[in-house]
Amino acid sequence: MMCVRCCEDTANQVAEAPDGSHAWVVYYCTRCNFSWRNTEEPEVIDPAKRDPYFQLKGVDLTNLMHPCPIPPLKQE
Ligand SMILES: [Zn+2]
Repeated sequence: MMCVRCCEDTANQVAEAPDGSHAWVVYYCTRCNFSWRNTEEPEVIDPAKRDPYFQLKGVDLTNLMHPCPIPPLKQE
């Protein structure tokens, strides 16, 4: 499936609710190492709603700054 961060077809399901309820599923991208849960907010799991600064579509991952910037934590 498509990764929500690098937009490549390199993501796979890696876990799901152990009770079989399908309450949540976790995905992981083998290209950019991003992982996400299907129940997270659209600003995390919808590429159209994610902050473009943190998207990795078309980015050469070997040239990323280190450490790679991450979005600020959400304030409650
Ligand atoms: Zn990715």
